Amino acid sequence: MKRVYNFSAGPAVLPEEVLKEAADEMLDYGGSGMSIMEMSHRTKTFDKVIQDAESDLREIMNIPDNYKVIFVQGGATTQFAAVPLNLMSKNKKAAYIETGNFSKKAYQEAKIFSDNVRIVASSKDKNYTYIPDCSSLAIEPDDDYVYICENNTIFGTKFHTLPNTCGKPLVSDQSSCFLSEPVDVSKYGVIYAGVQKNVGPAGMAIVIIREDLIKDDADLQFPTPTMLRWKTQIDNGSLYNTPNSWSIYVCGKVFKWIKAQGGLVAMKKRNEEKAKILYDYLETSKLYKNGVEKDSRSIMNVVFTTGDADLDAKFVEEAKKCNIVSIKGHRMVGGMRASIYNAMPKEGVMALVEFMKKFEKENLQ
Ligand SMILES: *Cc1c(COP(=O)(O)O)cnc(C)c1O
Repeated sequence: MKRVYNFSAGPAVLPEEVLKEAADEMLDYGGSGMSIMEMSHRTKTFDKVIQDAESDLREIMNIPDNYKVIFVQGGATTQFAAVPLNLMSKNKKAAYIETGNFSKKAYQEAKIFSDNVRIVASSKDKNYTYIPDCSSLAIEPDDDYVYICENNTIFGTKFHTLPNTCGKPLVSDQSSCFLSEPVDVSKYGVIYAGVQKNVGPAGMAIVIIREDLIKDDADLQFPTPTMLRWKTQIDNGSLYNTPNSWSIYVCGKVFKWIKAQGGLVAMKKRNEEKAKILYDYLETSKLYKNGVEKDSRSIMNVVFTTGDADLDAKFVEEAKKCNIVSIKGHRMVGGMRASIYNAMPKEGVMALVEFMKKFEKENLQ
């Protein structure tokens, strides 16, 4: 068996211990004689899986009691619609901060429902290589929420200071930084994340919602499909219909793995160490450039390029021969991208930097 260093942005690397455990339990989960995939979601056994997943997540993130947690299908992108559908009140107004492709898509989705959605800050002018100053935004008194994509998976940037929302609820897409470091949940109205970046198998999102923002059906401003109403999911413990039981099960294992590693404080320390190895090298390199402003750098997605598309393609090809895979940058940016999520070991980052040094020596004219 060969395992590679997988730098994919998502679906992405998962902890080997978790994969082995899942493999061991594949034919017989906890003496049930079947895999979790084959089991009714209405069983006591599955109920314990989802309950444990939620309580472990609450413990890891220190989620206050006045926040609900739901496991929903359709990935992060479905939440682009769920956010305006569930949060907009009479004037249907919201402020979006545009820091890349995913926040732009979320904005465009909200525009389907209302013309009163605005971009109040953007880093489009420099191809999303920085996080704009959000200390004094044009928030209006009747804005329902302020929206950010906290870590920009494609562009390799991250909010290190949350925007000043003038008291409005902050909605954050944390897909690619979820559980990578401690966060103060109480600063947010809603946090959501597609799980396939840092937590588990694709096809599911975790949504964390402050209780006072949850609307009764009668208060929704739009004809909202039952499945997209957060309240439906909350009232039914994420089991209104058949959930993505496999994803919930693996996420639950990853939460236990994070706890065993020392929680989010330990995750942060490891992730910063890994990112520093890469960024320190990039700063000294004569071949590679990382165009992101230093105070906007992501510690999850590190982008770099040689500045020459052919040489970048050669890099990707040769890296593959050294077991370094899925390192090609997103088509919107080009170059390379190393996604170094929680489950990427430090050895993987060191192997990447060794390869980069060798490639630099061989290809620097
Ligand atoms: C990947 C990603 C998404 C899209 O996730 P899906 O689960 O594919 O819908 C949205 N936002 C961010 C920040 C992402 O990284």
